[in-house]
Amino acid sequence: MKYKRLVLLCLIMISLLPIISACGKEPEKTVETEFLMDTLMELTAYGPNGEKAIDAAMGRIKKIDDLMSVSSETGDVYKVNKSAGQNPVKVSDETMYVVQTAQHYSQLSDGAFDITVGPLVNLWGIGKKEEVPSQTAIDGAKALIDYRKLQIDVSSGTIGLPERNMSIDLGAIAKGYAGDEAARIFKEYGVKSGIISLGGNVVVVGARPDGNPWRVGIQNPFKPTGNYVAVVEETDKTVVTSGTYERYFIKDGKRYHHILDPSTGYPADNGLASVSIISDKSIDADALSTTVFLLGPEKGMELVEELSDVECIMITNDKKITVSSGLKDNINITDEEFIYEEGR
Ligand code: ADP
Ligand code: MG
Repeated sequence: MKYKRLVLLCLIMISLLPIISACGKEPEKTVETEFLMDTLMELTAYGPNGEKAIDAAMGRIKKIDDLMSVSSETGDVYKVNKSAGQNPVKVSDETMYVVQTAQHYSQLSDGAFDITVGPLVNLWGIGKKEEVPSQTAIDGAKALIDYRKLQIDVSSGTIGLPERNMSIDLGAIAKGYAGDEAARIFKEYGVKSGIISLGGNVVVVGARPDGNPWRVGIQNPFKPTGNYVAVVEETDKTVVTSGTYERYFIKDGKRYHHILDPSTGYPADNGLASVSIISDKSIDADALSTTVFLLGPEKGMELVEELSDVECIMITNDKKITVSSGLKDNINITDEEFIYEEGR
């Protein structure tokens, strides 16, 4: 008799399970992935409008990719580069905004980050080619790089390059802008909780559905994607990482990666393996992750400390982790192989 009652109780419990979970706190979750801007994009949204929000955000990312990729013939960047040495060309408002921001970081870093780095990016072709260019070719490309020559006319909405073969490249910043736009669209659709993951660029929208902050992993630069060295807890923030492991080739035991130093013409070689930036806007975090990487451990950290609401995690080739002063109490190092060094 007792046994029968127990079975009955269990049956009732099982039949109630879907109802209980439907009443639970976790709202509906939508996840979509697409390969865009040369990287895997994964958008996650919680709540009833998730799917619509993700579709609209993906559409916007595609538009940005079209406008700002060097190879899209219908886009602004392609047009500007094609017209180098001729007349400036009219660009869309969003391209103007991204170009102005890129120019700001070019100025801030005295050309370590340089929006006109195109000829060097093209010459190395990291991700497509696997050979070290000749010194003559490197010198030729270097001579074409100078952000101070870029002609930006906000009133007429035009951008121009004064010399033939000069070219702009927004590869270090456009994904950041795309992340900001995706987050804006999520909010427009009423999504209060979500994650926008565009390769090494992450934007967290709101907090987790249970109200706790999102936990964002910092990639181990020496292991495959998904292996983390540390975790930061964030709400409504962006975490963007630039590293030597994203796009590279190895020749004669040396690693050649895609963050190019315009002063040497070679991939930056300053002991850093990766730089992660945490800030409010992803366009800033994206530009800064590349800028700080190029400035190197000392000057890079100095710049971060000067900027408000910007934090940084640096990982060196000898597995040391240094963080900016504002992050010390909000980072959890999860991999014991790495040595945590107190910064300033
Ligand atoms: P990812 O594209 O993997 O997110 P980054 O944000 O660090 O990585 O951007 C690297 C890209 O930035 C390169 O592929 C190239 O298009 C561009 N780039 C490389 N060197 C420079 C530089 N010195 N200044 C500005 N952009 C650069
Ligand atoms: Mg970047």
